[in-house]
Amino acid sequence: MAGLKVAVLPGDGIGQEVTEEAVKVLEVVGKRFGHRFVFREALVGGTAYDKRGVPLPEETLQICRDSQAILLGAVGGEKWDNLPPHLRPEAALLALRKNFQLFANLRPVILFPPLISASPIKRSILKGIDIMIVRELTGGLYFGQPKERRELEGERVAVDSMVYSESEIKRIAEVAFQIARGRRKLLHSVDKANILETSRLWREVVNEVAKSYPDVKFYHLYVDNAAMQLIRNPRQFDVILTENTFGDILSDEAAMLTGSIGMLPSASIRGDGFGMYEPVHGSAPDIAGKGIANPIASILSSAMMLRFSFGLEEEAKAIEEAVRDVLEMGYRTPDIMSKGKIQVSTKEMGDRIAQAIFK
Ligand code: NAD
Repeated sequence: MAGLKVAVLPGDGIGQEVTEEAVKVLEVVGKRFGHRFVFREALVGGTAYDKRGVPLPEETLQICRDSQAILLGAVGGEKWDNLPPHLRPEAALLALRKNFQLFANLRPVILFPPLISASPIKRSILKGIDIMIVRELTGGLYFGQPKERRELEGERVAVDSMVYSESEIKRIAEVAFQIARGRRKLLHSVDKANILETSRLWREVVNEVAKSYPDVKFYHLYVDNAAMQLIRNPRQFDVILTENTFGDILSDEAAMLTGSIGMLPSASIRGDGFGMYEPVHGSAPDIAGKGIANPIASILSSAMMLRFSFGLEEEAKAIEEAVRDVLEMGYRTPDIMSKGKIQVSTKEMGDRIAQAIFK
């Protein structure tokens, strides 16, 4: 058997600690369900810069090309903050997304019932939320040209361009509708079509794509209203489809519904099975090396990998259930600790989740 090939890029700071736990859990899933994972580790971020002089060495890219999925930790740290932009650790993330055309960013927003008090929002509003944000990741305002500084009538002027083509909108909409089909069959497409031309095209194309998914109920929503509705009544959402900038902002807003950044996974995919999976959080230099980082975001990212890159739904659910069980048993890393619970280290949390896979 060839095995399921995964490029493992732990990166910097707590990226290394949490990725180790995700790999541990995947190994156990392999044993329980009879899969062989082939993990190949490679350098990325500041660690890569220190050893190879660049944040994304060619050998890392090659290992990623030879794999079906990338499991990434996190990159960055003060040590590398003064490097020129193309050598900074974060440049590796943009380069990976661009190189592999990872145009769809998926961020699930799930609240684990035992952590309901970790969110600043009222319990009654939060109960039962389960949202998937599908954000376009390689177009729009962040990449559109021209993007420059100018001098106009003696003063500085800056320009960013919001550009979307029909094909860019179509492919992300297809991903979102397909995901909605596998969930509660409900989709909200978010735009600003009352003002922006790109949004008017977005709406047109989403309407066209929707015709192939008559089983999915869908609505258009202006982004300002969406921001409000996410706090007013988050339970009304299942899949939220949106462009790059709106998705960036809305997904952080939605993250706050769940309370802790250490719990949030993400996937960046392109619709053909290949994908990059990483926690939403960064390298957390303030707690790196202390063995106290929460590995759950990374472990849940590996569950997304099983679901989206390998089509292993049952295995993905086994990880998610193991996380739920361990939280219900009262185990907590310091970031989600509350009175009466049992505080554990990064490694112990990984061990507990791995054990729960075999329950
Ligand atoms: P961060 O997400 O690293 O940390 C923010 C806060 O959350 C810190 O107090 C940290 O201790 C805490 N935290 C984060 N993850 C945690 C976890 N798993 N368990 C417990 N606590 C956790 O964001 P930051 O401090 O703004 O950035 C630190 C570095 O990470 C910077 O260099 C930044 O550029 C980089 N960064 C990288 C990524 C990425 O690799 N995708 C994302 C965001 C930030």
